[in-house]
Amino acid sequence: MPEGRIIKALAGFYYVSHEEGIFQCRGRGNFRKRKISPLVGDWVEFESSNVTDGYILDVSERKNELVRPPVANIDQALLVFSAVEPAFAPVLLDRFLVHIEQNHIHPVIVVSKMDLVSDEEKESIEEYMSMYRDIGYEVIPTSTKAAADLPHFHELFKDKVTVFAGQSGVGKSSLLNLINPELNLETNAISTHLGRGKHTTRHVELIPFGEGLVADTPGFSSLDFTDISTEDLSRLFPEMESRLDGCKFRGCTHTSEPKCAVKTAVDDGEIHKGRYDNYVSFLQEIKEQKRRY
Ligand code: GDP
Ligand code: ZN
Repeated sequence: MPEGRIIKALAGFYYVSHEEGIFQCRGRGNFRKRKISPLVGDWVEFESSNVTDGYILDVSERKNELVRPPVANIDQALLVFSAVEPAFAPVLLDRFLVHIEQNHIHPVIVVSKMDLVSDEEKESIEEYMSMYRDIGYEVIPTSTKAAADLPHFHELFKDKVTVFAGQSGVGKSSLLNLINPELNLETNAISTHLGRGKHTTRHVELIPFGEGLVADTPGFSSLDFTDISTEDLSRLFPEMESRLDGCKFRGCTHTSEPKCAVKTAVDDGEIHKGRYDNYVSFLQEIKEQKRRY
């Protein structure tokens, strides 16, 4: 039975990419008993006598799936955060990172619009970049004015399914267009309607880029913490996760408990105070959510 990957879903058809071509398929098979409906990104078994009359027979187990956009088996997320216009937003970035870690997706931080950074702003942006690098994240400064970064992107996307994420106006579409001019995505100035607008009605499609696939719709539009428990939150901050064994109490929330390895590391300057403060405010938000439901 041939195996392939769904790269597009539209009007009841699934488009399955296989080395012999792209097969238009309908859903039919045992997976329906498992109450699974195929998603873009799924690996599937299918049968087909020609490229337009295929049937999906089975859907392989997923390593992750997003609701918005509906894509399965994402390998990495490129978190695009502009250095300026809009201003670099570390609280929002930490929120994105928590969600991405939670979904077992590899994050890469892209700091865009570096060409617009003034001499006065430069130092603060560079400090942020080295802080995230110290935690272990890959940080890539970009500018649509300097195409020199492109070879690196080819390597970065190779053999992976990548989704772009980040607030509106940071330059996601511009970067995608730079990477693949055939996409010809509409770019726009900063929108005041965050999370709404041009992408909400579109269907997601995985677009080949070099030896990888890129989702043409940005991910992680919803960033509330409903699926995250207070116990799990610190596991989603890598610099805390590596220190949890040092806390005296199991289930330590790293706030008021004594002998807390995380708080000690904050005091010693080994964990960045700003990241810790964001952790505490996210923790508070989760607690308030629990109280409400
Ligand atoms: P998106 O909403 O994240 O897809 O952002 P867009 O790609 O639509 O970009 C928003 C605006 O920022 C557009 O006017 C772009 O031309 C501009 N822009 C994007 N990247 C850069 C960059 O690296 N440098 C400069 N100077 N402008 C950029
Ligand atoms: Zn602790």
